[in-house]
Amino acid sequence: MSLSFPHPAEPGADPFSHWPWRRWRQAWRRWSLWSLLVILVISMLVTMVWLAGRYEASQVQDKLERDAINATGDIRVALNRNLQDLQALNTADDDIAAWKVRAAGVLQVRRELMRIEWRSADLRLRAHAETPYRSINWGDHSLLPESSLTCTHARRLNGPSYSPSHFQLLGEGLGTETMDVCLPQTHNGHLVGYVIGTYSLQGILMSQVGKTLPRTQEVSFTEPDGTRLALLGAAWRGSRMFTSQQLLDLPGNTLVLRMDSWHRAPSVFPNVMTALVTLMSIALVSVVVVLVRDNRRRLRAERDLGDALAFRKAMEDSLVTGMRARDLQGHITYVNPGFCNMVGFTAEELLGLNVAPYWPPELAEEYIQRRDHRISGASPPPREGHESVFMRKDGTRFPVLVFEAPLINAQGMHTGWMSAFVDISEQRRMEELSRASQERLQATARLATVGEMASLLSHELTQPLAAISSYATGSLNMLSHTPPPAHALQQQDLRRAMEHIGAQAERAGRVIKSVRDFVRRRDQSRELISAAELFEAVQPLVNLQARKLGVQVRIEVEPQLPPVLCDPTMVEQVLLNLARNGMQAMDSLQVPARVLALRARHNESYGQRWVEFSVADCGVGIPPEVAEQLFTPFFTTRAEGMGLGLSLCRTVVEQHGGHLVHRPNNPQGTEFVFTLPAHGE
Ligand code: ADP
Repeated sequence: MSLSFPHPAEPGADPFSHWPWRRWRQAWRRWSLWSLLVILVISMLVTMVWLAGRYEASQVQDKLERDAINATGDIRVALNRNLQDLQALNTADDDIAAWKVRAAGVLQVRRELMRIEWRSADLRLRAHAETPYRSINWGDHSLLPESSLTCTHARRLNGPSYSPSHFQLLGEGLGTETMDVCLPQTHNGHLVGYVIGTYSLQGILMSQVGKTLPRTQEVSFTEPDGTRLALLGAAWRGSRMFTSQQLLDLPGNTLVLRMDSWHRAPSVFPNVMTALVTLMSIALVSVVVVLVRDNRRRLRAERDLGDALAFRKAMEDSLVTGMRARDLQGHITYVNPGFCNMVGFTAEELLGLNVAPYWPPELAEEYIQRRDHRISGASPPPREGHESVFMRKDGTRFPVLVFEAPLINAQGMHTGWMSAFVDISEQRRMEELSRASQERLQATARLATVGEMASLLSHELTQPLAAISSYATGSLNMLSHTPPPAHALQQQDLRRAMEHIGAQAERAGRVIKSVRDFVRRRDQSRELISAAELFEAVQPLVNLQARKLGVQVRIEVEPQLPPVLCDPTMVEQVLLNLARNGMQAMDSLQVPARVLALRARHNESYGQRWVEFSVADCGVGIPPEVAEQLFTPFFTTRAEGMGLGLSLCRTVVEQHGGHLVHRPNNPQGTEFVFTLPAHGE
């Protein structure tokens, strides 16, 4: 897997330029989709519940229809059977008493029949029998007009005919709906009379439907227009009613059998299927809720990620440090704008390249080797980074500090290398400036030292010059004698005088040379030099002051000391400064024995070999309050001092890789010790 970074310098590819608008649009689309889904799910669930309810209702309705059809069938069968019974009453004999007995038998069995009449062909009453179950006042036994119409109809049909229902008082304000059936009696094809049966509609219902009628049902006879005639079953009224109506089509009359059933319709789980559907709906709604929550979490994570990405991008773009990623084959996979600005190439020009165009051609070979070495994983990159030289697009070179680190992806796999670059040209320029000013400062300090030594110099030079002058005068005197001195002794004196002149002149010349060498400003140059040579170089100048102050100078150099690689002028200046400070510290009445010891010896510390130089005096020592500020520039306790000596000494020693410390000397005074790396390390 390779890490992909947003393309930093692609024109117009800023992914966040229309951020709020895009975000808004995306959010709107997402929300509308979710709302649609929720609406669809809810409507589907409602439909399913509704359908389940309807299915259940249709089941109830079907059952009711069946019950009503069965009841109608039963009633029809019963009426027909009754007709047979009534028919059977008509026998050949005209015995009224026997008829009454038979009719009473029929009434005994058929409870719905309330009365049976035997009428002659002209509708006169011949006999009648009444139900033994009720006592009813039937009045004057005259035939009702509708009953006579029914009989006329029956006669026409030559079969039974039913009359429309009519109300029959039962006494005490009560009454019941009744219906007559008229059955013509024929004998040898001639009408001989009629049998009229009177039914109680209520009775029909009771005898035919009553036994099987469930508690939740109500059955009734109604007129086709809905007028209720008879009713059975005081039904318990639930909140939902089912109704079924069946026509009871009788000759001469049509009744409607109406069945009403009440149900617990609004109960939440009317049956297993509805319960199942409801349960599934709840599960579905729960899943949708969980999905919505999950989606909200995702959205939040997406937003956070977007913010983090925008923050990272802003950070990368504003970085001054150059960033570059390479894959394991060495191809550039990413550069940030900082890097592009640094080298002057655009990201398009750099991405995918194996040999970078910002490598100076003369160094490319070396860089390729270094890169291959790094890619091979032979050695880890140095933590403190390494310096390199890059080339801008215009060809100018500049130094960079490079920090490298392996790129590890989320699976812990090494996918390439990430490097950070810091342009250190400015730093280099400042270092150069500070080095130059340091050098100037040191030269100034040397001149100041010479200025201080001017009187000593003049004193030192007057001696050889006076000697030269007196030897020269003596020699001239000898030469002014005529004839010229022939005596060998005189010639010997003259030669000695000349030798002295030569020696003194050489001495004066040496003093001047040492001063000139010391003052002359040179570029820094490192050379191998032994400790003895360094001491030798400063000795004439040290001696100048030592003689004046009556100080005895001791030089001790350990045998077989390795040479040191240093800038001799600088180190000489350090030695001279320390020696001068030591001698000045001994310029006091409290110091009886004035000895300045210059030593050089071996030292091994920090796993390295050093040459340790020490300048020890027997002076007044350094009080703690002075020790605190000893190396602070311009700190001095002397009226004519500049306070630069020790700070310069420490800078010089540290520039050479060593360090400078001081400690009390035994029995009194101070010892300044500094180290320089021994050559060969
Ligand atoms: P300067 O010699 O111009 O005063 P330095 O930096 O060489 O400046 O010394 C700073 C101060 O440190 C001196 O003024 C002196 O007080 C103190 N000092 C330096 N060397 C010694 C020493 N060997 N013994 C006592 N005091 C010292």
